[in-house]
Parts: sequence; C-alpha cells; structure tokens
Amino acid sequence: MITSKNSPVLTIVVPCYNEEEVLPETVKRLEHILEQLMSNKLVSEHSTVLFVDDGSKDRTWELIEQYHLTHHLITGLKLSRNSGHQSALLSGLMTAKEYSDCVISIDADLQDDVEAIREFIIKYHEGYDVVYGIRRTRTTDTMFKRGTAQGFYKLMTKLGVQIRYNHADYRLMSKRTLDHLAQYREVNLFLRGIVPLIGFRSTEVYYDRHERFAGESKYPLKKMLSFALDGITSFSIKPIRLVTVLGFILFLVSVIATIYGLISKFMGNTVSGWTSLIISVWFIGGVQLLAIGLIGEYIGKIYREVKHRPLYIIESFLSADDKEVVTPR
Ligand code: UDP
Ligand code: MG
Repeated sequence: MITSKNSPVLTIVVPCYNEEEVLPETVKRLEHILEQLMSNKLVSEHSTVLFVDDGSKDRTWELIEQYHLTHHLITGLKLSRNSGHQSALLSGLMTAKEYSDCVISIDADLQDDVEAIREFIIKYHEGYDVVYGIRRTRTTDTMFKRGTAQGFYKLMTKLGVQIRYNHADYRLMSKRTLDHLAQYREVNLFLRGIVPLIGFRSTEVYYDRHERFAGESKYPLKKMLSFALDGITSFSIKPIRLVTVLGFILFLVSVIATIYGLISKFMGNTVSGWTSLIISVWFIGGVQLLAIGLIGEYIGKIYREVKHRPLYIIESFLSADDKEVVTPR
C-alpha cells in the first residue's frame, strides 16, 4: 500500500474571476500534469484541482459546474461575491487543507508555467514545506508592469519585509504550513509577506513566465497600486517612522531659520520676506497633510482589522466525493 507520505494528496487551487475564456485550456493543462504525476506515483490518486469562483460575472461558475460533472479531477468552490484575488486564494487553501497533504496555488490565466508543478512536487518529496515559484524572465509582461513590479520588490526589501524577488502567488505549501497560515487572521491579506513568516524548510523553483493565455488582466493599475500599498503598510511601519524623522528635520530647519530671521531683523536688514513666508506656509502645510494621510492609512487598517469580518463567504462546494452541488449551512 502506498502511504500518504510517499504519494501525497495534492490539490491545485486556482482563483478565477471572469476567466471563461481561459478555463477550458487551464482545465486541460492542469488535468494533464496531474494525470502524469499520478501515473508516476508522485501524487495520490485522490489529488484534484479546485477552481475558486470569485464572484465572476461571466459563465465561469457554469463551466466549473460542468467540468465537475464530467471530469473526475475537477472540483469547485463558489464565493458569494467578488472578494479579491488574495481572499479567493485563501478560501481555496483553507478548504483544500482539510483533505490534502500539500496544496499548490496558481493563477487561472496560464501565465505561470504549469510544468513547474512537477518540480514543486519533487521538492516536496525531498522534505520541503514551502516551494516558491520564481519567475526567471518577465519578458512577456509590459515594460510598465515589469518596471513597477521590480520597484515594488526593491522597496519592500528596503523596508525590511521578507519577500521573494519575482515570486507571485505560485507556490506549494504543505498541510502543516497551511494549518499555521490559518492562524493569521488578517483582513489586509498579503500572502506573499505572510508565508515567509511561517518558516519551515523552503526552497525555490525557477520558471519562465508566459503571456496571459486569453482574456484581460483582472489587475488594472488601480488595483495593482492598492495591492502594493496594502503590502507595504501591512508589513512595515517604516513609512510612518520616515514621517517622524522628516518632521524632526523640519523642526531643526525652522529653529535655524527663526534664529537667522531674528538676527537679520536686529541687524536692520529689511527683507520683504513675503515669498519665503508664503513658500514655507505651503511647504509645512503639505508635509503635515502627507503625515496625516499616512497616519490615516494605518488607522484605517486598525479599523478594518478590529472588526474581524469574514474574508470570504462560501456559497457552494463541489467536492470530489459527491458530484452534486452542496450548499453549506
Ligand atoms: N482574480 C480573482 N479575483 C479578483 C481578481 C483576480 O480571483 O478579484 C484571479 C484571476 O482570475 C487570476 C488571478 O487572480 O487567476 C490573477 O489575476 P490576473 O492574472 O488578472 O493578474 P495579473 O497576472 O495581470 O497581475
Ligand atoms: Mg495573470
């Protein structure tokens, strides 16, 4: 008999938001790799693919339901509304950890090379709990996306956040890693920052990033910026420190300016001073507003965090055991 350690139950979690165009191809490729792994006895026969429908407005869920009925490796999870990529991913991970030995998360759009899954599993067999997929090249991304992403990784590292360079959410996690992840009840979810905090043995697998197979990016600039800001402010208080330091320097400058002003007045140098006055008023005003805005950002986070709202609500779960739609109560 094959024990679960020799041949682990793998679940591949795929968050989907309006992905009807890519879904058929994604199903085909993931099924193919899973079948290969099964025939090589690298994963158990009970391994599945779990598609999480993040409140899509198109036919994504209909397709998942159909595939669930006709393809034995396909399972589905429907969220009650659009909750965002990170929450959708978490809902899939938390559902899958109940019946899997390890879980791999991958985007639906086939930008991440599915062939790397085999290497992920080999690393798991070697005893690693976390395997990070790292993009070797990003030539298929637009110059703008590449530039902003690079800048973001650099900034995060500078701010002291442990983050893997060029790693998105393509990774393998063992069951025990997921059990610990479940304890991070954060509303401002940034999985890339949290997973390294869990620890355990981890390694990296390199792959080439492809172009989106079909459809459009579900991460427009606005979402991308808000994701980056969330990442920074959820993991680092350095920006707020920077404001304090800036405030202190400005205070020193103003003391020197006051002394200089008083001396020149007593010396009888009559300077009209209007220009410098109006500039400093505006400057101080601007800096203060910036500081207040930043403090507000943190207070907003505390506000959202203390409410402890559920991150997602599962509407139905199509498991591998029953081929019927189950609505949890
Ligand atoms: N996604 C999601 N909910 C959202 C937005 C995106 O589940 O609100 C999914 C999307 O279907 C895809 C993954 O998250 O599988 C990454 O999105 P996308 O490929 O559009 O982002 P990009 O690669 O352009 O950054
Ligand atoms: Mg993508």
